[in-house]
Amino acid sequence: MYRSARFDEPLLNELLSTSIKENKTKIDKFQNSIKRTEAINIPNLDETQVVRHFNRLSQMNYGIDTGIYPLGSCTMKYNPKICEEIAAWPHFSETHPHQDESTIQGNLQILFELERMLSEITGMDFFSLQPAAGAQGEFLGLLLARAYHDYNNDNYRTEVILPDTAHGTNPASAAMAGYNIIEIASNSEGTVDLDTLEKTLSEKTACFMLTNPNTLGIFESEILEISKLVHKSGALLYYDGANMNAIMGKARPGDMGFDIVHLNLHKTFSTPHGGGGPGSGPVGVKMKIEKFLPVPRICKNNYGEYYFDYDTPYSIGKIKAHYGNFSVLLKAYIYILLMGGNGLKEASEIAVLNANYMKDKITASKNYVMPYKKNRKHEFVLSCEDLKKRRDIRALDVAKRLLDYGLHPPTIYFPLIVKEALMIEPTETESKEELDHYIETMIKIAKEDFELVKNSPKNTAVGRVDDVGATKNPVLNWQMIQS
Ligand SMILES: *Cc1c(COP(=O)(O)O)cnc(C)c1O
Repeated sequence: MYRSARFDEPLLNELLSTSIKENKTKIDKFQNSIKRTEAINIPNLDETQVVRHFNRLSQMNYGIDTGIYPLGSCTMKYNPKICEEIAAWPHFSETHPHQDESTIQGNLQILFELERMLSEITGMDFFSLQPAAGAQGEFLGLLLARAYHDYNNDNYRTEVILPDTAHGTNPASAAMAGYNIIEIASNSEGTVDLDTLEKTLSEKTACFMLTNPNTLGIFESEILEISKLVHKSGALLYYDGANMNAIMGKARPGDMGFDIVHLNLHKTFSTPHGGGGPGSGPVGVKMKIEKFLPVPRICKNNYGEYYFDYDTPYSIGKIKAHYGNFSVLLKAYIYILLMGGNGLKEASEIAVLNANYMKDKITASKNYVMPYKKNRKHEFVLSCEDLKKRRDIRALDVAKRLLDYGLHPPTIYFPLIVKEALMIEPTETESKEELDHYIETMIKIAKEDFELVKNSPKNTAVGRVDDVGATKNPVLNWQMIQS
C-alpha cells in the first residue's frame, strides 16, 4: 500500500475553526503537510498489458449480455441497445437539472408522458417519478399513506400488515416510515388467507402491502375480496409492482383496488440493473392521494408548455434530489414506445409461458419439487428439500454448480416459506434453446457426482466462498483485497 505523508490532524482542526481568508499561510502549510514525500509505487506496464488485464477482468463478470440470468423476483430481461444509444445522445446527457424550464421542454415532455403511460399501464391516476429504487418507492408510498391518514385525522393507524411471502424491503420500508409490522401466514395454497387477514385488520391498520402475483409467482385470485376487506377497515392497499412483468396489458393493480403502487422500471421496463447502478421506482396513486405526492409535479399549461409545480401545500415534500434518475426514466420511456401496448402485453404472455415451460419440464424430472399451487405466472419457486434428504445436495450447491456451466443461478433461499428454495424467473427474452439448456443442466446437476457438486464451482475465478466465516469475521477494508 502507498501512503501519503503524515496527516496533520491538529493543524486541520485549527484551520476548520477559522476562516479561509485569514489562513492563507496555514492552508499552504497544511497542503504541504499532506503532499507525498516518496514516489508512487505503481506498476510500469505497457498498453498491451493494461488492455489485456482489464479485458480479462471484464470477462470474469456475468451480465444479461453474457447469457440467461433467471434471478427470481429481479426480472433480468435483455436491455435493448437502442435505449442506451438514445439515452446517450448529448441532447439528453448534457442537460443539467438546474437549467431553466424553457430550455428543457423536451425532457419535461418525456417525463410528463411517462407519468401518463405508467398510469395507463397500472390503472392509477397519477405518478411520481422521483424514487431511485423499488425500496425508495415503497418508502414514499408509506409516507403517502401516513399523509393520507393524517389528513383524515386518522393518525392512530400505526400498523402495516404484510404476508409472510413479502419481499424483505417491504417490512424494512414500513419500519423506516415509522410503522409497526404485522406479518400474516399464507394459506396452504401459498396465497393470502382471508380469515387471517380479516382478523388482523383493525382501526390501527394503515396499510396492507402485497404483490400480485406474489413472490411464489401465484396470482392472488381473491384480490377483489382482499381489497374489500382492507378498505372496509379504513386502511389502504399497497401494490409492490416488482412483479408487473407478469401482468402487463392483462390486469391492472388500479382495477384490483390498489390505492398506491410502485413499479421497478429497472425490472419490468428493461433498464439495466444489478451492480448497484441507478434504478427507478416510480409511485402511482389514486386520485384521493394525489395532493400528497412529492414536489415538484410536472405539469402542462394551456399553451402546451411544461413546468414544475411546487405549489402543492399538502405534499410530503421531496424524496430525492431533482426529478428522479432521468436517464433511467428516459430508457423506460423509449422501451415503452418501442414495445407499444400490444408489445408489452405479449412480453408478459411470453414471460409467463417461459416460466411455466421451465417449471413443468423441471418438475416432471422429479428431482426438484414445487410446493403450493401448480399454476404460476412469470416465476416459480422450487424446493431442494427432497434432494437434500436423498443426497444431501442443497439449493446453494445447485446454484454453485450452475456457475461451472457458465449459467447464472436463480435466487436461492427466498421466499422464506419455501425450504431450500430456488426461485426461477426466465423472462420473455430467452429463446427455447436457452431454456432447454438450463432445464437440462439443472436436471443433470441433481444426478451428478456428490463431491463434484459439493466442491463446485471449479471453473470460476473465485471458488466457493466461506460465507459463515465472512459473517463471523468480516474483513471490509483493503486487507481483504490483499489476502
Ligand atoms: C426488487 C424488489 C423490490 C425492491 O426493489 P429495489 O429496486 O431492489 O429496491 C421490492 N419488492 C419486490 C417483490 C422485488 O422483487
